[in-house]
Amino acid sequence: MDRRTFLKSSGVALAGFGVGACATTPPRGALAVPRRAPINLAPVRASFDRVIRTTVGLRPHRDSGFVLRAEKLDAKTLIHNYGHAGAGMSLGWGCGVMVAEFAQDTGQRRVAVIGCGSPGLTTARQLQRRGFDVTIYAATVPPDTTSNMSLAGFTPTTALVNNDRRTPAWDAQFVRAAEMSYRQLQLMVSQNYGVYWIDSYNATDNPMPGQSGGGRGGRGGGGDAFDADLLPEHLRPNRNREVLGPGEHPFPTKYAVRTPALSIEPSIYLDALVRDFLMFGGKIVIRKFDTPRDLMSLAEPVVVNCTGLGSFTLFDDKELVPIKGQLTVMVPQPEVNYRAGGRTPSGGNASMNPRSDGIVVGNLQDRGNWSLEPDEEVRQRNVQAAIEFFSAMRPPAPGARLTRSAPPQTTPSVQSFFDAQS
Ligand SMILES: Cc1cc2nc3c(=O)[nH]c(=O)nc-3n(C[C@H](O)[C@H](O)[C@H](O)COP(=O)(O)OP(=O)(O)OC[C@H]3O[C@@H](n4cnc5c(N)ncnc54)[C@H](O)[C@@H]3O)c2cc1C
Repeated sequence: MDRRTFLKSSGVALAGFGVGACATTPPRGALAVPRRAPINLAPVRASFDRVIRTTVGLRPHRDSGFVLRAEKLDAKTLIHNYGHAGAGMSLGWGCGVMVAEFAQDTGQRRVAVIGCGSPGLTTARQLQRRGFDVTIYAATVPPDTTSNMSLAGFTPTTALVNNDRRTPAWDAQFVRAAEMSYRQLQLMVSQNYGVYWIDSYNATDNPMPGQSGGGRGGRGGGGDAFDADLLPEHLRPNRNREVLGPGEHPFPTKYAVRTPALSIEPSIYLDALVRDFLMFGGKIVIRKFDTPRDLMSLAEPVVVNCTGLGSFTLFDDKELVPIKGQLTVMVPQPEVNYRAGGRTPSGGNASMNPRSDGIVVGNLQDRGNWSLEPDEEVRQRNVQAAIEFFSAMRPPAPGARLTRSAPPQTTPSVQSFFDAQS
């Protein structure tokens, strides 16, 4: 089964913990190395009656990848920055720098940014940092954007581009965006921005590369570029992954691969970006545009299009296709300080991401589905998988100290995140 089929049919993306995570340390259990002390993780209380909501968002995918270019619209300069698929929370800051470079070339100082999700807000901030006077115009603002419906981890490649449609110019933009965004997000790690490091466990019976559901170098049935596709061989990451062997972890599998994940709490993060934008003198206007002609009524000579899937109608970009995602959220458990996921004993797939607004389970990548309605079957499957997975997990011994989730001891390279999924 290829990776896309796996994600779609299971209704679960192993969020942010790298399906088939590549193990650089050999499986310890397999080598009869003395065991390390077992880790103790707070139990997740998964049940249907703890579900508080299910959310849906449509990732704006284009087979040829996001659009980042400038063009003329009569007397105005129009800069496109949209189509970030499952990576719009991850790539925003870097794409924003490249938008600002286009804007600097115009010699103008007033810019209108259309759209108030992650790409719009990060672009607006990058423009402000370079002295531009920015107004955001948007039909909706947080919490009513796709960006608010994301998971969200630093997942710079998710469902981003079809291999056959990549160009050297696009690849160069992508790598710049990923590197600059990664650097920026690291600097934002704080409660104030809702950006943090967390340990992520992938429970598996087979932790070696390419042996647990696709993995590095795997490729979706539709030709989407994954992980290693976007990276030359010599740049592939080979550190920050730790394989825990039998007895060293509490999961119902032989092994657990632990990786550090850089994560974002969408509601805290997006609200903080709105606050920063306003604090630096920005203005937000609620307004919907129906055609490119509507943009001509704006006073700003430079307009940046960060409308995501809105460009399907506004700019008639029929290459855009939604990839539906769906998350189910259970009552928050502040003591749960790790992500986890993997096969359930009955062969399903579970994923869990703890946030202050709830324990998030499951996900979905359903290409071409425009429905914003939650799919009940997917919801049932995701919650059921979480119940099964976490009820089979070894609880900590009474009085045992819980293992803390700590920032990585050595900084993972940006490439370490190229197989993270969202
Ligand atoms: C379940 C799920 C999980 C995800 N997980 C991750 C993750 O872990 N990491 C990650 O990086 N990404 C993740 N994503 C992807 C991320 O959410 C998207 O890439 C991102 O939100 C896209 O942002 P956007 O600006 O394109 O859309 P939006 O956030 O919706 O912003 C678009 C803005 O444009 C405005 N707009 C649109 N059309 C018009 C118009 N005609 N006139 C005026 N305004 C208009 C809207 O009102 C809105 O303000 C996930 C997505 C989903 C659904």
